[in-house]
Amino acid sequence: MPHFSIQNRTLCAETQPLTTIADEFGTPTYVYSKAAITENYLSYANACRENGRTEHTALVCYSVKSNSNLAVLHLLSQLGSGFDIVSSGELLRVLAAGGDPEKVIFSGVGKTRDEMRLALSHGIACFNVESTSELHRLSAVAIEMQLTASISLRVNPNVDAKTHPYISTGLKENKFGVAIEDALMIYRTAASLPGIRVVGIDCHIGSQLLDDAPLLEALDKLIELIDVLAAEDIVIHHLDIGGGLGIDYEAEAPVTVGDYLTRLFRKIDTWRAEKYGGVPIKVLFEPGRSIVGNAGVLLTRVEYLKPGSEKNFAIVDAAMNDLMRPAMYQAWHGVQTVVQRDGEAVVWDIVGPVCESGDWLARARTLFLEEGDLLAIHSAGAYGMTMSSNYNTRGRAAEVMVDGNVSHLIRQRETPEQLFALEKILP
Ligand SMILES: *Cc1c(COP(=O)(O)O)cnc(C)c1O
Repeated sequence: MPHFSIQNRTLCAETQPLTTIADEFGTPTYVYSKAAITENYLSYANACRENGRTEHTALVCYSVKSNSNLAVLHLLSQLGSGFDIVSSGELLRVLAAGGDPEKVIFSGVGKTRDEMRLALSHGIACFNVESTSELHRLSAVAIEMQLTASISLRVNPNVDAKTHPYISTGLKENKFGVAIEDALMIYRTAASLPGIRVVGIDCHIGSQLLDDAPLLEALDKLIELIDVLAAEDIVIHHLDIGGGLGIDYEAEAPVTVGDYLTRLFRKIDTWRAEKYGGVPIKVLFEPGRSIVGNAGVLLTRVEYLKPGSEKNFAIVDAAMNDLMRPAMYQAWHGVQTVVQRDGEAVVWDIVGPVCESGDWLARARTLFLEEGDLLAIHSAGAYGMTMSSNYNTRGRAAEVMVDGNVSHLIRQRETPEQLFALEKILP
C-alpha cells in the first residue's frame, strides 16, 4: 500500500504514526492517505492526457459508493473529478462537497421519481438508464419539469468479468443494464421520447477486475452498437466504459491504469479514424475501488486473546459492521501489527465482538500479538465505511484523513445516543 510504511518500527500513514492517530481519535478508525487518493486519481487523469485527451474528451466520474466521505469527494472534485452516483443521497453529498453537477452521472436500476426530479433540477450531465420503464418514467418527469433529460443506455455486453459472482454485473443473468440485443430497439424508443436526449452509451461489467481483456471485449461490443446506431442517425457523443479495475489485496497484480487506458484509447482512436474521420468521442470512466481501495486502512485494537485447542482468536474492537467485505464476499484483507515487536508468532483468526459466527475480519494469520496491540486492516478504503452498519448498536468508526504529518478528523465516531435519536416509544 503506497503511502503506508514502517518508520521507526511503527506503521505510518504518510509520515503520521498510526499509534498517534489511535491515541488521538480512538479505535476503530478508518485512516486514509490524501497523497494516495490523489496519486490514484491522477493515474487516470494523466493517462487520459498522455493519450491526447482533454477535459472535453475524457472524464473520470469517481464512483461515490466506494467511499462517500465529504472530504474524499471534496479532494477529488478539487482535482477535477466528476462523479458517478447511485442515489439522490449521493448527489446531495457531491453537492455538499462542492462537486460540479455538470460532471455528475446517475447510475442504478431503481431511480425513483423524486430522485429524477432532484437530479434534473441540478442539471446533472447524464442518466445511465437501465430499463425501458425507466426511460418512460424519466421522459415523463422531465416533461413535467419542462426539461430534457440527457441519457445513456447501460447495456449489458454479456462478457464474463471473471470476478466474484456478487460483484460481476455484465452477464445476461445479472439485474443490471439492458441486453445488448435489445439496445437498438430501446435507443429508437429513447430517440422518439420528447423528454429524452440521447447522448451516450455505458456499461459496467463488474468489480475487482485484474485483467483488462474483458473490458476491451466490452468496448468492442459498444463500438459495434455505436456504429449501428450511427447508421440510424442516433449519434452517441460519449462512451462510458464503467469502473471495475481491481487492486492488490494479497498479490493479485492487476493491470495498471496506464496500460489499460492506453490500450483502450488506442482501440478507440483506430476506430474513430477508420469510421468517423478522426472525430473523437468523449470517454468516461467510473472507477471507485482503484482510487480509494488501497488508500485506506482500518485501525483496530486487540481487546482479548482467546487461544484454543482448535483455533486461536484475537478479538478486536472492529467488526463486520465496520468492514463487511470478509463476511459478505469472503474477502481477504491484509493484517499488520502497527508496532513491530519481536516475539513468537502464532496463527490467529481476527474476529470482532458482534454476535454472528460470520463476524470475522481475517483468518489464519501468523502474527505476534498481545492484548492491547493495534492492528491495521489493509485495503479498507473502498466499500469499507460506506457498507458499514450499526448492527449490535455499534456506532460507526471515526474517519481520519492524513496529509503529510497532519491528521484531520473527517467523520466523528457515532455515539449510541445518535443511533436511537430518531426512534420513539409508543405514547
Ligand atoms: C460500483 C460501480 C462502479 C465502481 O466500481 P469499482 O469496481 O469500485 O471501480 C462503477 N459504476 C457502477 C455503475 C457501479 O455500480
